[in-house]
Amino acid sequence: MPTLPVLVLNSGSSSIKFSVYEASDGERTKLFEGAVDGIGTDQGKFWIKDAAGTKLIDETPAVPNRDAAFKLVTDAVSKSPFPYPVAIGHRMVAGGPKLLQHQRITPEALDEMERRVAFAPLHSPIAIYIMRQAERLFPGVPNFVCFDSAFHSTIPEAAARFAIPESYVEQGVRRYGAHGISYESIVYQLGRELPSRLIVCHLGNGASITAIRDGRSVDTSMGLTPTGGIISGTRTGDIDPGVMLYILRDIAAEYPTTNAAADQLETIVAKKSGLLGVSRRSNDMRDIREHLSRGCPHCGMAVAEFTYVIRKFIGAYHAVLGGLDMLVFTGGIGENDTQTRIDICAGLQHLGIQLDPARNNVRGSATISAEGSPVEIRVIPPAEDLLIVNHVVRLLES
Ligand code: AMP
Repeated sequence: MPTLPVLVLNSGSSSIKFSVYEASDGERTKLFEGAVDGIGTDQGKFWIKDAAGTKLIDETPAVPNRDAAFKLVTDAVSKSPFPYPVAIGHRMVAGGPKLLQHQRITPEALDEMERRVAFAPLHSPIAIYIMRQAERLFPGVPNFVCFDSAFHSTIPEAAARFAIPESYVEQGVRRYGAHGISYESIVYQLGRELPSRLIVCHLGNGASITAIRDGRSVDTSMGLTPTGGIISGTRTGDIDPGVMLYILRDIAAEYPTTNAAADQLETIVAKKSGLLGVSRRSNDMRDIREHLSRGCPHCGMAVAEFTYVIRKFIGAYHAVLGGLDMLVFTGGIGENDTQTRIDICAGLQHLGIQLDPARNNVRGSATISAEGSPVEIRVIPPAEDLLIVNHVVRLLES
């Protein structure tokens, strides 16, 4: 197989991350990676580094919108030293009920994704925009999409359906989950060490938990959208639907049309809640820890709510799996915030989850369970871009 340069584009609600890999027989080499953060602000962040970690670009430009953000990326990667890609891989949260597998992007697939933007309204529009722009800017280069929801397509019906009238189920309203490529990458990295009963906590700015049996997702905390599940940086996670109705009635006078009220409700539950809403300070765990160390009670409550709900989900998924062999922490908080791991594991000893405080004092890949702990506890950073490159190469070859 010749050496294939593959560009990976991974957009979030306010960021575009990208990487360039070189793929050859069995070998994957990351050449560059970079990101534009803070889209919609006048103090964005734009950086690119090479394989040795040397920063080629490190700027704080104004990034008023996604056009400006994507132009920064494409202006940089379309010239030397970046190789011209032979294929482009995109990450997307959910493609809806008809697009369940990673696949080559066609005009029909793009139209179908567009019809389903309501299923991930903060994430899908920018991802679709970038797919269309990438096709225009790199003419003739095949584009592929990997859906987070693909990994969760194995969840049994009883866990995937919501108890709502059938007409909404027929429209495709169901649990799609998120972070699927991260979970798939953990399974991939575990390889022959993959246990039968596994719980993975992906704790980043977006946070979710998945129960995995024999490498397949059997339940996951996020629902139709990434707003459900456990508490995230700015999202509520699961709440009583009555709370949504209460807020809706509260804002009804100020937002008299249904769509305006729905948009405002979405802003409240998806952008102003979660760690940010409770801490009143930040959605960023590092800031929250710093304010907590200075005695901020709201930050204390944010961490307490966050870790409590995660413990509760671990208990639930322990029941779903009929026991547990391994617990994995991943994502920015899961990999780096040693205290969050301590807080989560405290009180779960009766489930066989025994953390070793000394081993826990690490950042990055490690086994952190105590000697003899019935459940092995590990920290494993996700390898989402590598997984996307693997799928792109597989699909190119087929
Ligand atoms: P992600 O979305 O995976 O990039 O994760 C972002 C989250 O990870 C933010 O809440 C960060 O504050 C948190 N995070 C990153 N590094 C650290 C660290 N060293 N200690 C605590 N939290 C961290």
